[in-house]
Amino acid sequence: MLTGIDRERMSIQQIGSATKRPTPGMVILDRDGVINYDSDHYIRSLQDWIPIPGSIEAIVRLAQSGMRIAVASNQSGLGRGFFKVRDLNRMHGRLLDLLARHQVSLEVIALCPHLPGDQCDCRKPAPGMLQHILQTSGLSAGQCVYIGDSFRDWQAAERAGIPFVHVLSGKGARELQKHADDWPASVQHYSDLEQWSLALLAGRW
Ligand SMILES: [Mg+2]
Ligand SMILES: [Zn+2]
Repeated sequence: MLTGIDRERMSIQQIGSATKRPTPGMVILDRDGVINYDSDHYIRSLQDWIPIPGSIEAIVRLAQSGMRIAVASNQSGLGRGFFKVRDLNRMHGRLLDLLARHQVSLEVIALCPHLPGDQCDCRKPAPGMLQHILQTSGLSAGQCVYIGDSFRDWQAAERAGIPFVHVLSGKGARELQKHADDWPASVQHYSDLEQWSLALLAGRW
């Protein structure tokens, strides 16, 4: 796969480089397609919310290595009336339960409930959610990293000045193709959150 070759080249360059990337102070995660499977029909209920294998373990691994974890997610299904806040609370209750088994918690779950036409400043590709998380964290943009599966996740991170990692889970593989001419060469593509977390903790990111 193309991305495998790119990654190979990048790791060779990193071996020769004197500057190793510092461990992030906070990892901000997109939700659908990164933590749980995504659907073109929206994730509407607890039944729809199914973790991607390895994603919970990855969050635990990152948190236990000292990183703070936050979530930033577009949820226009709220504004569209496809589900209610209580449905989201059930999904996020499940996520928090799975993490609490390992004494891990999330710093914040930031959500945008708006529709594309609402002109809010929080719906990605707007950077509002990431900026909000950044401002309340006390960290600089460079100390954080945003992990997402969509091109607009990268756009939001770019506008907030936060380093970005693209994952091919969820809509990621489709997004890689769809925006083939637009992805900057600097963006690294990993198969999923687990693979990136392992690379990071092995000092290969
Ligand atoms: Mg997503
Ligand atoms: Zn919004």
